[in-house]
Amino acid sequence: MVSKELPFTKSQIEEVVKTYPTPFHIYDEKAIRDNAEDMKHSFSVVQGFKEFFAVKALPNPYILKILAEHGFGADCSSLPELLLAEKAGITGENIMFSSNDTPAEEFKKARELGAIINLDDISHIEYLEKVAGLPDIVCFRYNPGPLKGGNELIGKPEEAKYGFTREQLFDGYVMLKQKGVKRFGLHTMVASNELNVDYFVETARILFEVIVEISQKVGINFEFVNLGGGIGIPYRPEQERIFFDDVAAGVKMAYDATIGKADIAQPNVYFECGRVITGPYGYLITEVRHMKHIYKDYVGTDACMANLMRPGIYGAYHHITVLGKENAPHDFKYDVTGSLCENNDKFAVDRMLPEIERGDLLVIHDTGAHGFAMGFNYNGKLRSAELLLRPDGSVKQIRRAETIDDYFSTLDFDGLGSFK
Ligand SMILES: *Cc1c(COP(=O)(O)O)cnc(C)c1O
Repeated sequence: MVSKELPFTKSQIEEVVKTYPTPFHIYDEKAIRDNAEDMKHSFSVVQGFKEFFAVKALPNPYILKILAEHGFGADCSSLPELLLAEKAGITGENIMFSSNDTPAEEFKKARELGAIINLDDISHIEYLEKVAGLPDIVCFRYNPGPLKGGNELIGKPEEAKYGFTREQLFDGYVMLKQKGVKRFGLHTMVASNELNVDYFVETARILFEVIVEISQKVGINFEFVNLGGGIGIPYRPEQERIFFDDVAAGVKMAYDATIGKADIAQPNVYFECGRVITGPYGYLITEVRHMKHIYKDYVGTDACMANLMRPGIYGAYHHITVLGKENAPHDFKYDVTGSLCENNDKFAVDRMLPEIERGDLLVIHDTGAHGFAMGFNYNGKLRSAELLLRPDGSVKQIRRAETIDDYFSTLDFDGLGSFK
């Protein structure tokens, strides 16, 4: 069980709404900072630990800057994400550039920033060399493919578009060595929203074994191994969270049993998590606009799938609290919807909640990662503001809401570009 307690009260949110109308996402700075420290502390037992926050999860420079203050780097996969990291003061080897199907100008920008470049394919070695030159340090993304005897935990990496095959890894490092590259990394990312600790320990073990083999056969020293992201969060109250201590202990054991015993260089251990870093510390606040009773009972909110698409596209559960009715009996069954002309625009289906009235404020939990970030403009819906709840209880707007002018700004049609 995890607590779904809120870091704010109804009256605090009623105050905020006077300045920043709903809907908006609000992020709990103190909780994000505490969690970052917790992760760092837990992983201090593994060799050279560092976390590169996956920018795509919450691409806001205010958040990147907060995380950088705790020693986190940034994991980027596009030019705008590289620019966000740069603006937040994260540069050089504090940036991991883990992209795929990458255009030349993105490799160029990554080189210019001195980022660690993680190549997704063997053909990108020559491509990178041609378009931007090879850097001192190069990392490859590994796709372990069909695992011997199958692996119940890891599933079917061979179905994923990412990474090098096992054979390509060996060939690729030989190529790099011949081209004079001296510093090497290895990366993989095969999980998403995974709550089983063993999964990460197993992935680490697979990578560590490959590192030992490549180090010996190719005769190179690995500087780091990047275990990717994918650590899950308990969206449902009845789920259990992953404790960083448990992942760290398992990874350390796997490291000691493989790399630790081999006569090779001892690489640092990196992660590039997004969801587990900020996910539980963001909330989408929305006001109930209409109640509708037909064959089912509907709560129509002023937010929609454009503000949070996970329930709509994955059927994902997001906990909902009705502010001020936390302790009321949950004896009404509702579908909580948005206003898109799209029937999967529902934040919850058949959810037991207290009796809801027009004007109630709803809190949709766990929107701090892959929430705002996945927004879109279908049906002419506008992206919301993002607010930061500061440790002193004050609220700072860290991104304003989109306006109709923003929506029309790419059009050059009879004055539409300047709607007022
Ligand atoms: C999405 C992604 C991450 C972050 O994933 P989370 O599930 O948010 O931890 C990290 N690395 C890569 C390459 C990704 O694509």
